[in-house]
Amino acid sequence: MRAICIFITVMLFGWTTFASADSLNEAIADQVDAVTERVVAWRRDIHAHPELSNREFRTSALVAEHLRSLGIDVQTGVAHTGVIGVLKGGKPGPVIALRADMDGLPVTEKTGLPYASTVRGEYQGREVGVMHACGHDNHVAILMGAAEVLASVKEDLPGTVKFLFQPAEEGPPKGENGGAKMMIAEGALQNPAVDAVIGLHISQGEEVGRASVRPLGLMASAQRFDVEIMGSQTHGARPWAGVDPIVVGAQIVNGLQTIVSRQVDITQHPVVVTVGQFEAGVRNNIVPETARLSGTIRTFDPDVRGQVHEKIRRVVTQVAESQGATATIDIDPGVPVTFNDAALTSQLSPTLEAIYGAEHVSEPARITGAEDFSFFQEQVPGFFFFIGGRPADLPASKAIPNHSPYFYVDEGALPLGVHAMSRLASDYLRAGAE
Ligand SMILES: [Zn+2]
Ligand SMILES: [Zn+2]
Repeated sequence: MRAICIFITVMLFGWTTFASADSLNEAIADQVDAVTERVVAWRRDIHAHPELSNREFRTSALVAEHLRSLGIDVQTGVAHTGVIGVLKGGKPGPVIALRADMDGLPVTEKTGLPYASTVRGEYQGREVGVMHACGHDNHVAILMGAAEVLASVKEDLPGTVKFLFQPAEEGPPKGENGGAKMMIAEGALQNPAVDAVIGLHISQGEEVGRASVRPLGLMASAQRFDVEIMGSQTHGARPWAGVDPIVVGAQIVNGLQTIVSRQVDITQHPVVVTVGQFEAGVRNNIVPETARLSGTIRTFDPDVRGQVHEKIRRVVTQVAESQGATATIDIDPGVPVTFNDAALTSQLSPTLEAIYGAEHVSEPARITGAEDFSFFQEQVPGFFFFIGGRPADLPASKAIPNHSPYFYVDEGALPLGVHAMSRLASDYLRAGAE
């Protein structure tokens, strides 16, 4: 803990170096300083009381009460438990949205932290431990802090800040809707209409005090696909009397391998096509009637995603046809590319560099995981960045991945996150008002 305190002190001292003569920026830095202790307390409280997707009742009540105490207009119950706050600045200007996801995961915490979760819950009919194993507790506390910072300088803000506290980023429970897509359907980006949206994610992928952002495709678009192959059942000793869907399925699996290796410009576009399930048959000497495949598709460019889907459909249906079978394929809408608008990214990256120091901001490799912030970015230009949460004394090779029961972050990341979100919003509004 002491190392963290020293780190925070160093960073706070650092800010005075970065701050220009600009009085709004100085006021923001002062307010970040003033709110940091409470942000840490909020985060520990939320961490100790994690809630599963679409069940973020306590968290959303905490958020709503805090926003109301700041004089921010609050709407609750958006996409089940989501909270939207609207802070009107003292001058006219654009509308910027800041987003934080609120849900925990069905993971039993093993960190041994004094504020570790002991919460149990129910997930898909099973009793589970519940933990903020993806760090969303940090995201909520950071955005609560940024709301307080921005509310304190609202008279000087040209435009409006919209706070989006989102449920169910990890995906709603089976049979329910939720997440960013549902917030958008319920009008989260309207009234007032949002011009751009900003979000962040914490991880141990980087050391505390560092941030990273990448223009264009940052995290993958992900779709599930399901293939059903219809053959004709026969005795295993007389395959010519039927159509073998297992052999057809095997050829489809092989055909799908040629999409990435032969049909995509790999110098420009990383693509993943994985078949994770292949089910057919009940007995060794029966050629079954049907076979089923399912898998996942990952792409980083909306156009390439469409092309890859078309190629997959073609392989599936035409390989089946060539063997006298038929096949149907269903590709779910999935999650879009977490796609950072190029112009917005070059506009806002200098702000990130001002807060973290240019030498502490880097461009990460693409991530084949997905993030539902991408639904917001499909509607309006968006900026999604990562903040480091790995303690300085932990080597990169020992970094603990998100979703691990041992996941934890260095709290020195919190004031930096509050400062970044606050300044990104105010810098965006000021640039738009000029
Ligand atoms: Zn996660
Ligand atoms: Zn997450």
